[in-house]
Amino acid sequence: MQFRRSWAFALAALALSLAIAAGCGAPAADRAKVDNLVVNVIDVGQGDAILIRTPGQVTLIDSGDVPARDKLVAYIKKQGVKTIDTLIVTHPHADHIGGAVAILDNFAVKRVYDSGQVTTSSLYRQYLATVQKKNIAFALLADGKEIDIGGGTLKILNPPVPPFASEAGLNNNSIVARLVYGNFALLLAADAEQEAEAGMVKKYGSGLKSQVLKSGHHGSRTSSSPAFLKAVAPEAAVISVGANNEYHHPHPSVLKRYGDRKIKVYRTDTDGAVTIASDGKTYTITKER
Ligand SMILES: [Zn+2]
Repeated sequence: MQFRRSWAFALAALALSLAIAAGCGAPAADRAKVDNLVVNVIDVGQGDAILIRTPGQVTLIDSGDVPARDKLVAYIKKQGVKTIDTLIVTHPHADHIGGAVAILDNFAVKRVYDSGQVTTSSLYRQYLATVQKKNIAFALLADGKEIDIGGGTLKILNPPVPPFASEAGLNNNSIVARLVYGNFALLLAADAEQEAEAGMVKKYGSGLKSQVLKSGHHGSRTSSSPAFLKAVAPEAAVISVGANNEYHHPHPSVLKRYGDRKIKVYRTDTDGAVTIASDGKTYTITKER
């Protein structure tokens, strides 16, 4: 813990110096060009990995679990991506950090953000050690922060400041972001459960409204609470979930809640990668299969 704290401070200082040094650098030539917002909720089995591209930047939220890491790297390479401007690790569970080292080893990652939560797993230690070894800019995210993603913004809504007590679990302190691109909004709920959802509803209310929701916690019944769905009022929901997963996600009660609200459901176990594209006015959702 002491070790982590001391070099986390060093990394934060490094992040600042790099940010100053980077200044207004020219866009990298190797960047996969897109004319507008393109979001791929990648099929990584049971886990999350969400690639966000704008005309200016590439952002990756989470990196799936270990068994999917080669598939994840191949998918992102196939999009023509060589540089990832921002990697966000929502929380340190294996199904979100399992591919992090593979991502850091296969792409030029400019900066890494995480929730500041720690675990004792070797996966987590390897992820942090790799960020440190490669001298990648590193900082923490929490409610109230905003990140520029090149023509769009990620408004961070969770974890709260201060974070939930550890009894609430890592999921409730995961990084939740509302992606805003023109008039289009996508709520990326990570693995937030009902405690986190209640906090966001209390603070933001209808400010959570988004056309599309990346469902919290793989469609678990501990997420997608009625008050949260009412506030977000999505037209479509994307569930990132593995086929026949041991947790029986998504839960039938959550699918019923979506059905009752006429929310169109997409899921990576049956649809493969789900791609959301927007020009800032309208949006489309397409399925890999
Ligand atoms: Zn998860």
